[in-house]
Amino acid sequence: MKNLTILGSTGSIGVSTLEVVAAHPDKFRVVALTAGSNLELLKQQIETFQPDLVSVLTADKAKALSRSLSGKKPQIMHGVEGLIAAATAADTTMVVAAIVGAAGLVPTAAAIMAGKDVALANKETLVTAGHLIMKMVREKDVRLYPVDSEHCAVFQSMAGHRSQDIHRVILTASGGPFLNWGKEKLAGATVADALNHPNWSMGKKITVDSASMMNKGLEVIEARWLFDIPVERIAVNIHPQSIVHSMVEYIDGSVMAQLGVPDMKGPIAYALTYPGRVASGVKPLDLTELSGLTFLKPDTDRFPALKLAYDAVRAGESMPAVMNAANEIAVENFLSGRIGFMAISETIARVMDLHTPRSLHSIEEVLEADRWGRRTAKEVLGCTN
Ligand code: NAD
Ligand code: MG
Repeated sequence: MKNLTILGSTGSIGVSTLEVVAAHPDKFRVVALTAGSNLELLKQQIETFQPDLVSVLTADKAKALSRSLSGKKPQIMHGVEGLIAAATAADTTMVVAAIVGAAGLVPTAAAIMAGKDVALANKETLVTAGHLIMKMVREKDVRLYPVDSEHCAVFQSMAGHRSQDIHRVILTASGGPFLNWGKEKLAGATVADALNHPNWSMGKKITVDSASMMNKGLEVIEARWLFDIPVERIAVNIHPQSIVHSMVEYIDGSVMAQLGVPDMKGPIAYALTYPGRVASGVKPLDLTELSGLTFLKPDTDRFPALKLAYDAVRAGESMPAVMNAANEIAVENFLSGRIGFMAISETIARVMDLHTPRSLHSIEEVLEADRWGRRTAKEVLGCTN
């Protein structure tokens, strides 16, 4: 039995995680769930999985949730305190970190400090605080399993190999809905266009990140920390079919890859059951049914966000946290219709120009850099709140 806390249980990854859990009641018990504001879905999850503890965003939502539940109720908490309580619950052995954005950093760090293994979907944790998180992972001797499909593929492609024999990590990217759009057309891309991802169904923020290719940029930084490999040796290939989830090239020219039908239940199940495997609910892959697998070089002229991420990780220190914060604000503004699609990367570039990187020694200092990035992005965009 593995006892789980799921941070962000009502999101796309959270729901897929609970599908894997529901298929294997003999293997998992849900100790704690946390959610933002989808109380209706959280209520159903509580009734199905009977956690001991749940946490929501605010005190008002906690009260509303409590009123809506009948029968045996879990302990109901709220805010950061509730997230930390869920992440560090005594019975929990593994935390699934599936909150979106830098909001996931504090509870994920708390889980590691409490000695919990982590299945990490929240890539922003490593983007903003990679060196601190990896140091905590080593000091606390916990396991950090990637849920991001590319990193899960790299992790699988590294199994049984020596790290000194790795030449390059090659992350694949679908290219998103705008793969073949020219610059002028991109400038007029709508929210509906950006949310129309060809291969994956995900939360809104990561879907927009996929359209701008910032998602791949965040993943380059995530890979840099997870696998301790310099970014010069992390390449990106556009692979529109999303069947090859990523690759590792070795010094002898051999390339190991992991393939599968694109479905996050695969990487989630692997992270939950490593080194074993269970039926994950992913459809079998029949390569003979595909019309072909293609690979292209990314175009950073049309998708500058990918280059910005490489620039940020090369600048190091607080720059990736600031870049991530600026991206979160810019994406929010794009989703609310205030700015156009290309203004996302323009805003990030402007905020990065205004930032002088400084070294980060604690999670609190990362949060300060995050706040600076948010504030500056809002100033650049002329937002009042
Ligand atoms: P989502 O928007 O569908 O869900 C996010 C979850 O976090 C929800 O439960 C929401 O209520 C909660 N949440 C949001 N803001 C919060 C806050 N401030 N405090 C507490 N809880 C909050 O997002 P998602 O698509 O499931 O993505 C989650 C994470 O996993 C992201 O970091 C994303 O990059 C990563 N990821 C997602 C996918 C995917 O297929 N969806 C794939 C790879 C990686
Ligand atoms: Mg990914």
